[in-house]
Amino acid sequence: MRAVGDDLHQRALKRNRYRNEFMKIRIGCVCLILLLFGSVEAQVKKMKIYISADMEGVAGAVTGDQLSPTGFEYQRFREFMTQEVNAAVEAAFAAGATEITISDSHGNAENLLIEKLPKSVFVVRGFPRPLTMMQGIDETFDGVIFIGYHSSTTNPSGVRAHTFSSARLADVRLNNASMSEGSFNAAIAGQFNVPVIMVSGDDAAVKEVSSIVGNIEGAVVKWNYGFHSAKTMTPDAAYDLIREKVKTAMGRIKDFKPFKLKTPVQLDVRFKNYRPTELLSYLSIVERTDSHSIRFMGKDMIETSKFLEFILTYEPGLEP
Ligand SMILES: [Zn+2]
Repeated sequence: MRAVGDDLHQRALKRNRYRNEFMKIRIGCVCLILLLFGSVEAQVKKMKIYISADMEGVAGAVTGDQLSPTGFEYQRFREFMTQEVNAAVEAAFAAGATEITISDSHGNAENLLIEKLPKSVFVVRGFPRPLTMMQGIDETFDGVIFIGYHSSTTNPSGVRAHTFSSARLADVRLNNASMSEGSFNAAIAGQFNVPVIMVSGDDAAVKEVSSIVGNIEGAVVKWNYGFHSAKTMTPDAAYDLIREKVKTAMGRIKDFKPFKLKTPVQLDVRFKNYRPTELLSYLSIVERTDSHSIRFMGKDMIETSKFLEFILTYEPGLEP
C-alpha cells in the first residue's frame, strides 16, 4: 500500500510540475502578444487635420440673404455650410485622418449645425479669439483645409470679396504683400509648420489663395460674375467635388510646404475710415503710415493675429 501510495504521490508531483511549466509558457505567450499589439498600436501614426470654415464661398451663397441671421436664406445655408464641412471631414477620415478640429470662422462663429457633425470631431466656436479663424491650430496638426473661403478686399473679383471686415478694412498686408483671409491664415498655420492642403470657394478665392500659398488642391464651387453674383454648383455637386479634392490632397499630403513668413512680421492695415487710424497712432507700438493706414511689427504670427483681432473687436462699450 505504501509503495503504491508513494508512486501515486510522485506521479501527482510530476503532473503538477508539468502543469506549472505549461502555465508559465502560456503566460509568457500572452505577454508577448500584448507587447506586440502595444507596439503596433504605438506605431499607428496620428494624422490631425484642421478645417477652417467660412461661409461666403459656400456653393450658392451670393448676397447677405444667405450670410447672416437676418437673411431669409441663412438657416438653409447653415445646413449647406455644415454639409460642405462634412464632405471634407468624411473624405479626410477615409484617407487616414485620426483627429479633426473644425473652426467655425464666419460672422458670429455660430453657424455650423454641430449636431450634424460626427461625434469624432471637435468644433471651435465664438469670437473674439487670439488666432481668429485658426484658433486651435498647433504644431501637432498635419494639414489645414479651408472650406467656403472668399477672395480679399484688394481683389477686383470674387463674391463678397473682403478681408476680415467688409465694413472696416481696405487692405491687410503682411511683409508688404496684400493678404486674403486664406493666405493670412496659412501664415498662422505656417508658424506651427502646418501646410494648407486644400481650399474650397469661388474661382477668385481659390486662385488667390493658391497664388500666394502654393500648389494646393482647390475646389471651385462657383464662378463669380461680381460681388453679388455667380454661376454656382448645386450643394450636392459641391459636396462631391470637395470630397474628391480632399481625397487628392490627403493622398499627396507630403507634397505641401508650410507657408512661413520672415519674422518679425510687418502688418499694415488700411482702414476705410479715418478715425481708427488717428486713435491707434496714440499707441507707441503703432506707426501711422498715412491718413488711413497703420503699421504694427509682430514678433510672430501669433502676436500679429492677436493685434489684428484686438483692433477689429475692441470698443470701450464692450459688455460683459
Ligand atoms: Zn471671411
